[in-house]
Amino acid sequence: MRYFHSIRHRYYLPFAALLFCFVLSSHKTDEGMFPLSHLKDVDFKAAGFQITQKDIYNPNGIALTDALVRLGGCTGSFVSPEGLIITNHHCVFGSVAGVSSKENDYLENGFYASDKTKELRIGLTCKITKSYEDVSIKVLDGINLPMDPVRKKELINRNITALVKTEQEKHPGLTIEVSEMLVGYSYTLFRYQTLKDVRLVYVPPRTIGEFGGETDNWEWPKHTGDFSFVRAYVGKDGQPAEYRPDNVPFSPKKHLVINPKGTREKDLVFILGYPGATYRHEPAQFIRYQQEYVLPFISEWYGWRMQRMEELGKNDRDRYLRMAGTIKSLANVKKNFEGKMYGLTQTGLLEIKTREQEELQQKMKLAADPRAGFFRVIDSLYNIRLASAKRDLLISRFNGDCGALAAALTVSSFKKTHPLVSNTSPATIEQWKKELKEGLKARYKIIDQELDKDILAELIKRANNLPKKQRIKALRKIRNADKWVNTAYDKSFLDEPALLFKLVDSAFHQVYYNNDKIQQLADKLHPELVKLGEHQTAMTDKLNEQLPLLLEAKMKYANKKFIPDANATLRFTYGYITGYKEGLNPHPAPFTYRNEIFAKNATDNADYRLSPPVKELLKKDQIAKDLLDPDTNDLVLCMLYNLDTTGGNSGSPVMDAYGNLVGVNFDRAYTATLNDYSWNTDYSRSIAVDIRYVLFTMKYLNQADNLLNEMGVKI
Ligand code: ASP
Repeated sequence: MRYFHSIRHRYYLPFAALLFCFVLSSHKTDEGMFPLSHLKDVDFKAAGFQITQKDIYNPNGIALTDALVRLGGCTGSFVSPEGLIITNHHCVFGSVAGVSSKENDYLENGFYASDKTKELRIGLTCKITKSYEDVSIKVLDGINLPMDPVRKKELINRNITALVKTEQEKHPGLTIEVSEMLVGYSYTLFRYQTLKDVRLVYVPPRTIGEFGGETDNWEWPKHTGDFSFVRAYVGKDGQPAEYRPDNVPFSPKKHLVINPKGTREKDLVFILGYPGATYRHEPAQFIRYQQEYVLPFISEWYGWRMQRMEELGKNDRDRYLRMAGTIKSLANVKKNFEGKMYGLTQTGLLEIKTREQEELQQKMKLAADPRAGFFRVIDSLYNIRLASAKRDLLISRFNGDCGALAAALTVSSFKKTHPLVSNTSPATIEQWKKELKEGLKARYKIIDQELDKDILAELIKRANNLPKKQRIKALRKIRNADKWVNTAYDKSFLDEPALLFKLVDSAFHQVYYNNDKIQQLADKLHPELVKLGEHQTAMTDKLNEQLPLLLEAKMKYANKKFIPDANATLRFTYGYITGYKEGLNPHPAPFTYRNEIFAKNATDNADYRLSPPVKELLKKDQIAKDLLDPDTNDLVLCMLYNLDTTGGNSGSPVMDAYGNLVGVNFDRAYTATLNDYSWNTDYSRSIAVDIRYVLFTMKYLNQADNLLNEMGVKI
């Protein structure tokens, strides 16, 4: 079972009914990541759709949602009857790096399996949403006011666990999850089919798939061919199965039809996908916390780590390849956060939200509403959070960014819950060994020993520079972090996962009793981290008590709309192909073209590098007419539209009014990084690779006619 966001808020039946009426009567067509349950609120005809709600989701028949998958943290869609999935290049980037080497550098040169036997096993899984059901009443059963927040959370958790268990028994082959849709009011149970054998089929060369690199990430205009193909396999009996060489391609209920002619400006487009998280219903204080603490801290820290990795991998390609996936994901977050900071400053969103909240408070006061007390509570809780934010953000990095310390902390926690005494039986010890190894496997990853060391030393230095009162006790005695870390790693059994696993297997008691300095540090740090974790959970629980009151007030006094925040469940969003006039790179045209790529390439920015075969490809002049833009006779590369998307929407199919595939979503314009807090037609624009560029590359670079035929594309 998994459900997203912490469970929060108070259940209030009259308000739930009010909410329902409000949502029905107040949708706007521009904003909204509509859950499947809200599709009925969309006026498909008025928006220009040539298909109906039933063509999108139909639990009793076949619909477009049957072609959608959640692929790792991204989205993908079936494009053939044989389980072929289109997604983004960046969604498989880590997997491609993992199967690449200096000799077979698929990351640099691309990969094309000319038949199924050549497809490569990768560690991704995918999920298909089969159906959903509103379970709010069952989840909130027994919740009465007033109730202790901890008790309430327990009760809700218990209800969810019971629900999932019952449903799982009814559908043993499916994955059941309950997601919180709207704080404290609505919960939806989703039934997923999970496919565990996914293989790599096609990736363009890096200078197509990642053209523009970090320079163009979160920017428009861009010229990136950010697409790839994988294939889902199942056991011979057609049932989901782990990887086996003799598994067979999965037959989806539905696959998307490709429209090789693409779209034109002002055309209606829509997306189905799995957006991860948005925070639009949070109070103004949350924005302050993000703007002043989280965003600057994380972007700086990720920048430091990236720089270190780039240095370490500079002269060693294999070493670089091992770190490439991590560098890319850190860079992605870093620039996203910088975009948010820029957007926040430009739009004054914090001031706007604060003002709205103050006006709301005023209205409640005038109405002598007795529930207005929550404003004060939210304020004081955030004051506590902000006072130690710097320290808390730093200390939380100790728990994940350094592999050896993460492993040691896992051991510390294990020792606490599994006290080894003289009469612990051999059978128990055998069982514990297994448990500990399982726990370690999930967290113990050292991509580079020197990097691991550097990260720990840097964290210690930063922690010891905190204001005196905020220092971390466990680190107090370390005067020279570099020296301490060097000595500790020299003699440690934790800097090499194999060593620790060996110790667990062959000398279990030594895992408990040893002089390893990193382990000793972890043992001291662990209680501090636990305490911090408990404090943060308690704060969150208390805040979560208040948020439904804020929501309720907004509804009653401020006429706000309440489409649930994104929570990695399947969503629908629609809008139009339209230019972008604001931001760092104003570019009114909603398409980019091949002829523009050469101007970028002519600069000496390495992100605009084109490998010789790609350069040659892009110069090709004999091109199928269908693939060319009728207005310019040039090849369209990327397109821009005013849909409501966020992280997790990468790889989402962009479809035209008929539900045919015209592009693959992969990014947003710089100021649209603000979508996570607020959506606005002035600054929210998302970006896709145009399907014509995808087909062009496959046809003319690799002559991948087998895949084009499989997708039913005739060009
Ligand atoms: N690049 C994002 C992703 O990986 C898409 C976005 O945030 O707009 O999901």
